[in-house]
Amino acid sequence: MRTGSQYLSAIDDGRRVYLDGKRVDGVARHPAFAPIAKTVSELFDLAADPASGMTRPGPNGEVVNRLFTAPRSREDLTAFREAATTWARHTHGWVGRSPDHVGAFLAAFASHPDVFGDYAANVTAFQKRVVEEDLYLSYAIIPPQVSRATTASAWDGDLVQVGVAEERADGIVVRGAQMLATGGPVADEILVSCIKPLTPEDTDFALSFVLPVDTEGLKLYCRRPYAPAATSHYDYPLTTRFDETDALLVFDDVFVPWDRVFVYRDVAGVRNQFFETGAHVLGNWQAQIRFSVKLQFLAGLARKVAAVNGVDKFPGVVEKLGELASLVSLVESAVLAAEYTAEPDSAGLWRPGSRALYGAMGLQSELYPRVLAILRDLVGGGVLQVPSSVADMTSPETRADIDRYIYSPGTPAADRVKLFKLAWDAVGSEFAGRHHQYELFYAGAPFVVKGYSFRNYGFDGPVSEVDRFLAGYSEESQ
Ligand SMILES: Cc1cc2nc3c(=O)[nH]c(=O)nc-3n(C[C@H](O)[C@H](O)[C@H](O)COP(=O)(O)OP(=O)(O)OC[C@H]3O[C@@H](n4cnc5c(N)ncnc54)[C@H](O)[C@@H]3O)c2cc1C
Repeated sequence: MRTGSQYLSAIDDGRRVYLDGKRVDGVARHPAFAPIAKTVSELFDLAADPASGMTRPGPNGEVVNRLFTAPRSREDLTAFREAATTWARHTHGWVGRSPDHVGAFLAAFASHPDVFGDYAANVTAFQKRVVEEDLYLSYAIIPPQVSRATTASAWDGDLVQVGVAEERADGIVVRGAQMLATGGPVADEILVSCIKPLTPEDTDFALSFVLPVDTEGLKLYCRRPYAPAATSHYDYPLTTRFDETDALLVFDDVFVPWDRVFVYRDVAGVRNQFFETGAHVLGNWQAQIRFSVKLQFLAGLARKVAAVNGVDKFPGVVEKLGELASLVSLVESAVLAAEYTAEPDSAGLWRPGSRALYGAMGLQSELYPRVLAILRDLVGGGVLQVPSSVADMTSPETRADIDRYIYSPGTPAADRVKLFKLAWDAVGSEFAGRHHQYELFYAGAPFVVKGYSFRNYGFDGPVSEVDRFLAGYSEESQ
């Protein structure tokens, strides 16, 4: 299996990643991307270590990462969850688009080649490469936020959302942009498609294809990276390890050979790839596994802060910690309930139960802000009553005051400052703010995600139960 250092060399390929008006020279060495690339390289090393339990035999008896393969039994599904948990624990849930996210989408795509019609062989061949070569895919499946009042065919300007500029005998030429490839700058390849509903007028934009990040004409415009501004690991322990840069993709007449096309000018096809294959449910189950690990980490942080401040026996604080415990347990339980209610589909892919999965996802936009609010409440001003940087800890001129005034019973300054700086990086730093936005939007705007919950709950049973109850009495029977 691929090692971390093989991955790091692979992404050093001249890709066109832009920051501050300039092209980045070598993402794996650049201060904005080197930290997250190192974290991803650790994930690959972890998966390749037989002790991690993340491997399974591949189709030819070789050893492969099970997270890139489709679960084909209940035991497989459980092992998938355990492997996804192992990766998530390595980042404590702070890396949203680790390679298992889009990997899960691809595994489900390949389980249902029929959904891709004439392009089926492209999907299965590519997914075989993902498994054999341990490829890290990012995806950009949302149109640029030009206007949500209409779809791209009604926008001013030619091909603003990525679409077909030219069809050739050997492939297609695409032009335009798509948002928002988290991890794109450090991925091997990118899946480009559109999950937002399109109209019959949007066929030019009804595409799905994969490309290496270094493809000629593909440019990645990154939002402001937070890692370079972070002063040290000590001051920003999360930012300095887990800052996945989000990137807008721009396609300057990019050539896509036919063997990399999954869906072509097919409005129904782009939706079917996500929902008919089981990709949406498997990929989002991975996301909820990661989310539950992150919530556990935040709960641990809150519990520790309360103990250090000596407030953890006060009834009001116990109530807050109890609420936090309930919120976290709900997500943990939904992950397990989705596994418990999983069923094999017509192709033998074990799909996590959609009712439990989307039930949890639908509440994520309320649940994450509530968890942050409880943590913010418990940390009080402690996250600001910290020295400006680790330099105040190491300087003989300042350290004595820090030791004398920033401590708690049983918790010397060194430990207290470290804990509260971590808490700030979780709730208050720029990285924390981005994570807040991420958890609200990564699976779609909240109204979209609640729509999944609405459609997958299965209201027929509860409605007929109410009907039966109503039928049991009448005006006459009172
Ligand atoms: C940090 C982060 C990372 C991301 N990573 C990725 C990634 O890796 N890959 C990827 O493809 N995408 C990614 N996304 C994009 C994400 O999928 C989108 O943000 C999400 O689908 C919502 O789309 P939008 O941002 O355009 O919001 P919009 O759809 O514009 O919604 C914004 C708000 O407008 C309102 N609104 C819009 N349309 C309607 C409507 N029809 N009815 C009612 N209200 C409406 C809603 O209140 C909504 O909350 C990421 C986003 C964030 C914030």
